[in-house]
Amino acid sequence: MKPAPFDYCAPESLDEALSRLGNSPGAKLLAGGQSLIPMLNFRLLSTDLLIDLTKISELRGIQPHGRSVRIGALTTHQDVETSPLIRERFPLIGEAMRHVAHLAIRNRGTVGGSLVHADPSAEWPLLAVLLNARLQVAGLGGQRLIEAQEFLVGALTSSLSDDEILVRIDFPALPRHTAWAFDEVALRAGDFALCAAAVTLSTGGSFLTGGPRITDARIALAGVADTAIRAPAAERMIRGQRYLTLELVDQAAVCARDAISPNADLHASADYRRHLCHVLVKRLLGEAARSSAAFAPSSAPVVEGK
Ligand SMILES: Cc1cc2nc3c(=O)[nH]c(=O)nc-3n(C[C@H](O)[C@H](O)[C@H](O)COP(=O)(O)OP(=O)(O)OC[C@H]3O[C@@H](n4cnc5c(N)ncnc54)[C@H](O)[C@@H]3O)c2cc1C
Repeated sequence: MKPAPFDYCAPESLDEALSRLGNSPGAKLLAGGQSLIPMLNFRLLSTDLLIDLTKISELRGIQPHGRSVRIGALTTHQDVETSPLIRERFPLIGEAMRHVAHLAIRNRGTVGGSLVHADPSAEWPLLAVLLNARLQVAGLGGQRLIEAQEFLVGALTSSLSDDEILVRIDFPALPRHTAWAFDEVALRAGDFALCAAAVTLSTGGSFLTGGPRITDARIALAGVADTAIRAPAAERMIRGQRYLTLELVDQAAVCARDAISPNADLHASADYRRHLCHVLVKRLLGEAARSSAAFAPSSAPVVEGK
């Protein structure tokens, strides 16, 4: 199908794009087009004006910002996957990118487009809530910062107003000794995840203060709710522990599973998604714990057994 007719413009600055957007109620912003163009083609959406953001160079790029990393909204998934800075500071993000669709889509699709599109199964919303990302958005009245969990309002819904543009996303550094793990289950490679999960375990303290402990634990899930979510009750079970046993890992995974109410759809039942949540969280907590074993007392391995 062809989209309904629309006008097109390609501003070269953020100010110009904001002004076109402010003067054209109902205009749509085009980034990589990997979600928007199919929706226009299927006539699930229509617009009088398509504002192409791709010529606005100030919206692109990956920069260090203190200990944070700042990613421009128009940066592609592939730019992130191949970035040396991401590899050094956020290997978890690089790993997650390999699961976003196929290479051709990663070459065009953008970080900002994915966050604004807010698909509940997408990787960027999950990374943003896991890493406490802050999103900088601009409107004609000025700019504002939004926490990831407030930005993601529901399925395919963000808190961005119609006259605002997402400019960049800041990912604050994780604590120094942080182990991580990411994985997802999809029907085929490149498909959206039925369930995706990521965990981080940060350890701190010294033997002088009673030995290292897990100072921060984060668990994020996608595909099991209307937005990407954290599992706060499961995180609390782990935070403050000296080391993780298999029993505790399983209890935390059960806790994460029991807190979700996934929807059923053509691809998976709600029960299967709950099962995936349990399996993934248990596996990832174990993986992250094992790779942080160096920070645990040698007599108390982070995870006992396999
Ligand atoms: C076959 C297929 C498989 C896919 N699989 C996955 C997957 O496994 N995981 C995954 O995460 N994604 C997947 N995607 C989606 C892909 O990641 C898209 O790149 C992404 O969802 C949208 O990014 P985009 O840059 O293409 O945005 P667009 O399609 O251009 O825009 C999407 C929406 O965001 C708005 N928008 C874009 N940029 C801005 C901005 N800076 N400010 C304000 N609004 C903005 C647009 O107006 C539109 O409403 C898949 C897509 C396809 C076609």
